[in-house]
Amino acid sequence: MDTLNNMVTGSMLRDEAMTRHTSYGIGGPAKAYITPKDKDDLAQILQFANQHNLPTYFVGSGSNLLVADEGIDGLVITLGKSFNHLDINGETVFAESGVMLGKMVKECIRRHLSGVESLIGVPGTLGGALVMNAGAFGGEISNYLKHVTVMTMAGDEKQYVPGEIEFSYRHSTFPSDEIVVSAEFKLIQSDEATVMERRAVASAGRKTTQPLKFRSAGSVFKNPKEGAAGYYIDQAGLKGTKVGDAEISDHHANFFVNHGQAKAEDIVSLIKLSRQRVYEKFGIMLELEVKTLGFSPGIFDI
Ligand SMILES: Cc1cc2nc3c(=O)[nH]c(=O)nc-3n(C[C@H](O)[C@H](O)[C@H](O)COP(=O)(O)OP(=O)(O)OC[C@H]3O[C@@H](n4cnc5c(N)ncnc54)[C@H](O)[C@@H]3O)c2cc1C
Repeated sequence: MDTLNNMVTGSMLRDEAMTRHTSYGIGGPAKAYITPKDKDDLAQILQFANQHNLPTYFVGSGSNLLVADEGIDGLVITLGKSFNHLDINGETVFAESGVMLGKMVKECIRRHLSGVESLIGVPGTLGGALVMNAGAFGGEISNYLKHVTVMTMAGDEKQYVPGEIEFSYRHSTFPSDEIVVSAEFKLIQSDEATVMERRAVASAGRKTTQPLKFRSAGSVFKNPKEGAAGYYIDQAGLKGTKVGDAEISDHHANFFVNHGQAKAEDIVSLIKLSRQRVYEKFGIMLELEVKTLGFSPGIFDI
């Protein structure tokens, strides 16, 4: 770790509490939390991790992450401020993965470019949005994608076009050992009224349906094909159920919120309880939408 520390030209925080890097405000320490300075730094870090078999995980801003209380035994790499180049030229939008999705969406709206306006209010970075295929109110980040650049553990850059990577509901097939570095989109030049109306519908929908006052990671479960996960959790009588400082939101049952001191184990208990009750009552096995780091295999099974 000392060798790596001396090598990194960006920032490397040792035993860094993941409470500081997740929207839940939950999670034990990562062995090292690294923000590379630039592509050369990133390439060197990945090569080093590869050569020394260091477990390596990529995160964005942690808005879809549940990290174990025991922490993460490995390197956590995030592309933050030094990967935040955003360039809009006509209908072509180029952005690096560390760009906050909200910033990109607002800049596109300002230019009356249509295609990403329904994503207004989705927290997180562009990198996280691509890997999650973030979506809201009928739009998905992959809809107007032209290509994505990733970096492999050998430190090589590689480009994918849609089709080489499959995108579906809150899912993509990016290999887990490649970090998404940047992407280019081709949007549609529209007019102010159309773009502003779509934005307004998305903003209003979000404000009325989501418990935005509390810390959460958005939807905990994917919606099953039968309907909304929140509906089934509600019908199972679980809205407002608390474990420790964690609660199944009484506003939106697919959001679990942290009232301040919640632990990952509290959220895990609520996840298992929801899966159990919904399965018993409706025969539906809810599938996690949130990504998890640092847990033993099988911990979410019922
Ligand atoms: C209040 C609230 C509302 C939300 N509403 C929505 C919504 O409407 N629609 C929606 O889709 N989501 C929603 N979310 C979930 C979340 O905002 C999205 O999933 C977001 O795209 C995650 O981005 P992130 O940068 O925080 O990624 P993270 O949470 O840090 O990571 C998510 C996944 O992406 C991977 N990843 C991140 N960056 C990279 C990278 N550069 N290279 C490779 N892998 C990477 C991580 O390994 C992880 O698997 C909401 C969350 C909150 C808290």
